[in-house]
Formats: sequence, C-alpha cells, structure tokens
Amino acid sequence: MIMADSIQALYIHIPFCRHLCPFCAFAVRKERAALHQQYLELLFQEMQLRNQQFQDRLGTLQSIYIGGGTPSCLSQEEVKSLLDRVQSLFSCSPNTEISFEVNPEDASHHYIQGLAQLGINRLSLGMQSLQEPVLRKLNRNHTVNHVYSALDALEQHAIQNYNLDLMFGVPDQTLKMFQADVKQLFCYHPTHFSLYGLDIEPNTPFAHKPEIVNKVIQAKELSQEMYLWAIDYLQSQGVVQYEVSNFSKSDCQSRSNLSVWSGKPYLGFGIGAHSYFPYQRWANYRSFRKYQLALDTQEWPVAFHETLSPIQQANEKLMLGLRQTSGFSTNCWQEEWGLEWPGKNQELVDQFCWQGHMFWNPPVISLSPQGMLLADEITEQLMLS
Ligand code: SF4
Repeated sequence: MIMADSIQALYIHIPFCRHLCPFCAFAVRKERAALHQQYLELLFQEMQLRNQQFQDRLGTLQSIYIGGGTPSCLSQEEVKSLLDRVQSLFSCSPNTEISFEVNPEDASHHYIQGLAQLGINRLSLGMQSLQEPVLRKLNRNHTVNHVYSALDALEQHAIQNYNLDLMFGVPDQTLKMFQADVKQLFCYHPTHFSLYGLDIEPNTPFAHKPEIVNKVIQAKELSQEMYLWAIDYLQSQGVVQYEVSNFSKSDCQSRSNLSVWSGKPYLGFGIGAHSYFPYQRWANYRSFRKYQLALDTQEWPVAFHETLSPIQQANEKLMLGLRQTSGFSTNCWQEEWGLEWPGKNQELVDQFCWQGHMFWNPPVISLSPQGMLLADEITEQLMLS
C-alpha cells in the first residue's frame, strides 16, 4: 500500500449565484449578500475542525481553489477575510497556486486588480460563449459585452494565468459559431481552456423541458464534431489537452485538477464540497441549513462518507487515469494493490485500440480523442467488480 501523502490542496465552495442557470447541477443558492458573513464564519469553523483533525498530515499548500457557485459575488473585503483565515490555518508559500472563479459580469478592472493585490494568481472566467444567442439559450446572466470587458480586464492586470470556460453542444449553436469563438479567443492570452458539452443533468430546469432535451440529443453528433475540432485546433495553437475537458499551455495545468486526478489528498470546504484522504472520501451537505446545523453543534457537516476497498481504489485509479491524456499504467494495479490486470481487460483494450478509441503503449493505456468522447462507457467496461 502507498503511504498517505500530506494534504497540499484545498477546495473552497462559495455557493451564491445572482441567477441560477437552468442546466446547472452544482450546490448553489440564490445570492444574498446578507448571508455572506454567516457563510464565511461557517467555512472558518469547518476549516478549524479539519485543521485540528489533520494537523500532522498538513503540508505546504500547492493549491487553493475557490470555486462555486460564483465566488465573485463576494466583495474584495470578504475575499480578503477568507484568504486571511485560510493562511492563518494552513501553510502557504509564494508558490501556492490560488485560483478564483469569476463571472464576466463581475470582472471589472477594479475587481480583478483587487484580487491580484490579495495574492490570487490564477483566475477562471465562466464566459461559456461569445455568441449572444448561445448565452440567451443557456439563460446566462451576462452578455457578450460583459465577456469582452472581462477579457480586457484580465489582459491588463498582473494575473497572467487564466482559464476560460466554454460550452459546446448548446441547442442552435452551430459549428461555425463555436469555431469563431475559439479562434477569437486567441486574440487574448489565456493559458488554459475548460470545454464542457451541454449535458442534461437530472432535476435541473432543463431536464423538465422536452424541447431542450430533444435538441440536446439531436445535437449529439454536432457536439462531438465541435469537441474533436477543438482538440486539434487548440493543439495547433500550443494549448494541449491533458484531461477530457481541460487544455493548457505547457506548465499551466491547473494544480488543483492535477492533485484530484492523481489521487492526492485534498480537503473541500463549504456546502456540497467533496474531500479525499487515502482511502476515504466524503461529501458535505448540499443544504445550507443542514451544513449550518451540523457546524453549530460541532459535528462534521458530512452527508456521505465511504472508505474505499482495494478494488474501489483500483477502479478509481483507472477512471482518473483514463480521463487524462497521460493515461493509466496497468502495472500500478499489481504494484499498489497486488491485483492482476485481468485477461478480459486486455482483450477489451485490444478491441478498443482496434476501434480507434484507445492507445496501448505497454504498460500504459490512454484514450484517443474519439475515446475521450466515450470515457465513461469505456471505463465502466474495464472496471473490476
Ligand atoms: S453561475 Fe455557474 S454555478 Fe451559478 S448557477 Fe450558473 S452555472 Fe451554476
């Protein structure tokens, strides 16, 4: 068994959103500035509890990721108080990557400059598209003008490491529209792209709109075409795919992403946040009230907790490895868990390679771009039961 690593990554969830998007399945709630202070106090309580629990397992942080929801609903003073508390409880260095998600309507010059002064050194802009009809279809709270102003602000301040979130496979979005967006963004200097195909998540407003569900199903083939085109085009511009949905310039991969996918421990704080510490994972309550009630009584605000069996660990490693272009080493099952790579799996690998979905460079298997489109299905077939 591998010795547990020290904890070097934190995720902090800020659930507030000014407007709830109809496709979104994250743990979010309608923005109410009056609740910010109360929520931040709850976050601090949770951090204190985990700090006490793991004090001999905490390393210097490599990454802090402040996501949501919409973290940019917080004022600069609130972000400062959050970072001050994190830095009082956890060891950081000038090298710690501090990522912060910003929505275009909040990304004014003043706000971005303030974030840079607070030590935030990586931003992620939830822009989704440069086409007004696409933004309207997604019922986003921002316009294309907001996106351009945000991009100008990002270019003019000290935070040179920034990600752009883009969506594809949106009803009525054409291949030309998507291609024009991606090309246009190279007038700027993003270091990272996250591309997400629109999926209909259960219990979201879109899931209850048959006309949207049907259009998303009908757009599946086009959506795949957009994805495969983007992989090639981004690569031609020096932005290389490193995970199913993530692409970066060299050395600009998100450290937070990498630590999760390489199976390193991380702590998540806030409603709905997930954590992993070998070999346990847990998820917090998604309900603000339950999260608060638990912390008010000094209990863990945890809705779900499980200890992974060796087979679950091996399957998890397979799933995380296949999502990354670096792939999965079949040796690691033997080395880490004493498990044989089953003959049945080798037959499947040969079949996936023959179909053009997989590469086999012994002992590493990895998915081709076409295979990335089927990552979940392929992983499921290779998992041990
Ligand atoms: S702004 Fe982002 S997190 Fe908030 S509802 Fe929309 S998609 Fe979800």
